[in-house]
Parts: sequence; structure tokens; C-alpha cells
Amino acid sequence: MTVPTPVLTGARTPHRLLDLEVDEPRDGEVRVRMAASGVCHSCLYAMDGEHAAIPMPIVLGDEGAGVVEAVGPGVATVAPGDHVVVSWAPGCGRCRTCRQGLPALCTQQPPLGRMADGTTRFHHGGEDVFHYGPATNAPLTVVAERAVVSVDPAMPLDLAALIGCAATTGVGAVRNTARVRPGEAVAVLGCGGVGISALHAAALAGAYPVIAVDVRPDKFAALIRMGATHCVDATAPDAADQIREIAGRGVDYAFVTTSAASAFPLAMGALAVRGTCVLIAGYPDGVALGFDPGHLLNGERRIVASKYGSSNPPVDFPDLVDMYLAGRLDLAAMVSHRWRVDQMDEAYDALRSGAATRGLIVFDTESAG
Ligand SMILES: [Zn+2]
Ligand SMILES: [Zn+2]
Repeated sequence: MTVPTPVLTGARTPHRLLDLEVDEPRDGEVRVRMAASGVCHSCLYAMDGEHAAIPMPIVLGDEGAGVVEAVGPGVATVAPGDHVVVSWAPGCGRCRTCRQGLPALCTQQPPLGRMADGTTRFHHGGEDVFHYGPATNAPLTVVAERAVVSVDPAMPLDLAALIGCAATTGVGAVRNTARVRPGEAVAVLGCGGVGISALHAAALAGAYPVIAVDVRPDKFAALIRMGATHCVDATAPDAADQIREIAGRGVDYAFVTTSAASAFPLAMGALAVRGTCVLIAGYPDGVALGFDPGHLLNGERRIVASKYGSSNPPVDFPDLVDMYLAGRLDLAAMVSHRWRVDQMDEAYDALRSGAATRGLIVFDTESAG
């Protein structure tokens, strides 16, 4: 089967819409007709050449949702016609962390860009084309069975795409990693898709105050509607003082969702005694962060990381769908732009410039394939 698919052939080059051959799913794999794919920062790092190990040519996209079209031998948990959210962390299913329900921390990951058996399901002109995780920017993709989770068909598939990465990462950091309790003070640094999800979750957990910290004051009114009780301009020279004053004693949790150089020191400066800085952001290769050990020691402050919201997708995805269907997770409010599959570079440019909160590539399922 041949499908026009956006392919990145090198860092810092535009996408090319190439007619890819898409293989049948093999053992333990499924083919998904994508409905929508979210435009995520981790793909931007690939485009900008900030992760050296990424093989080319490659199909990007790490969050998406669609409909299962075909299943390979041995697939038991989904069937053709199922609505699924696609996870970028299938894991091997066998190592210790996978068995603990933390597939994003799998210690037996296949080589980047390939399926578990070391091969690819995309080809062009006899050449392999690699998969950036689940490659959700492809109208038709093949992923491991463990990378798809069936969800209630009442869930709109375009918004479901956000559950594949941004919502799970942001909500999970609050719910699974930090386990924020009522009355605890929270700051969220960087309010894109992940940050807004963290704001929602903090508000639902009963945190107070919930302080949104961002470089774009024009977004503040919207952030208040999405769960923030206060907003602070991250570019203000006294931003850390402002956050501490709002919380009275500093914040119990500062969630860092952006790799912007100022975010981590600002988060550390805003922490209360025994406060925790939760690092969510992915950083480009070679970045080192510094902290003052006295500040850490004398307040028993902590720095922890949250990868994919410490989530277990088969458990967390349906929970987030339920939250959405109950009107408690406003995924629509996160979406600032919708793009067609031939607008990939515009979509990532809007994310890079900060113009887009979260963009969605929406596939025309009628004409695709
Ligand atoms: Zn992502
Ligand atoms: Zn594993």
C-alpha cells in the first residue's frame, strides 16, 4: 500500500510529502489509520538537529489517535475498527520497569527509528524510512500492539490525539509523579500543551495557589480559565519573588515543562522548604543544569524527573478519556491551531515561535489511502 506521507529527510530541511510503501503489520503489530496527530516539542528537536542519534529519513509524530485498520498475528487487545490512542512508549513488556507499569522507562527499547525486530514498516524507492516512535504524522502507521490503547468511541479522535503525549505527560506529572494533595502550592513553568494539562490536574487535585508562569502575558486570561489561580510573567526580573509571595512560603511543587534556560533556575528559586522541582521537559543533547547545593540541602528541597507523567498508558489513557467525557479536562482549550498533512513545516514553525499552544495535524480520512 502506498500513502503520501510527510517525511523528514534531514535536520533543518523542510518536510517532503513522499509516496511511502506501508507494510502489513507483523506479529504483535497493528496498522492504524490516523485521525489526528499532535505537534510536539520532541519532534522539533529532531527537526532542529538537537538530538544527534536520529536516523533519516524519518516520519515524525509522537502523539495521535485513530482507528485500527489491520492487526498482525497474535494481537489480542485490539481489533479492526477500534478507536485507539497511540502511545510513544510501548516498552518491551518484559523488563522490570515494564512489568512495574512504567513502559516509558523500559530498559530494552528497540533501536531508535525501528520496530522491535529492528526493521521498518515504511519504505521509499527501495530505501528504509524510519519511525520516530509511533510516527503519528503518517496518515497510515504501523505500531506495536502495546502502543495502542482502545478508548470509548464517544471520545472525539482529534482531541484524543493529545492524550498520546501532552495530556498524559502533564496530568501524570501531577497525579502520578508528584501526587499533589489539596492545599499544596503549585507553579507550572511553561504553559503549552503539557503545562496546561498540569494546570488542570493541579486544580483538580485541590492545589492552591496554582501559578501559571509563562513568557506570553497575552495567554494569561486563557490560563486562568484553564485552572490557574495566578499568573506570573517569566521574563520579569523578580519572577521568583512574585511566585514565592503569591504562595506565601514558596511553592511545594514547581513543574518545569520547558527547556528554556531560565525555567529551571526560576523553579528552584520559587521552591518552599521541602519543595520539589519536577522536571518534565525534554532537553536537547549536551545541556547541563546547575543548582546551589546549599539551597537544596538547607531546605531539604528535591529535584525529580517525570517521564511521560510516570504513566502506564493502558491505565492512564482511559482515565483521561473519562475525565474529558465528564467535562473535567478541557482538551479543546489546548488546541490553538489545526493543520493539514501538507502544512507540517508551518505547524512546527508555529510551535517553535511560541505562536501555537498545541497544534493538531488533522487527516482527511475520506481521501487518504
Ligand atoms: Zn511528545
Ligand atoms: Zn521493557
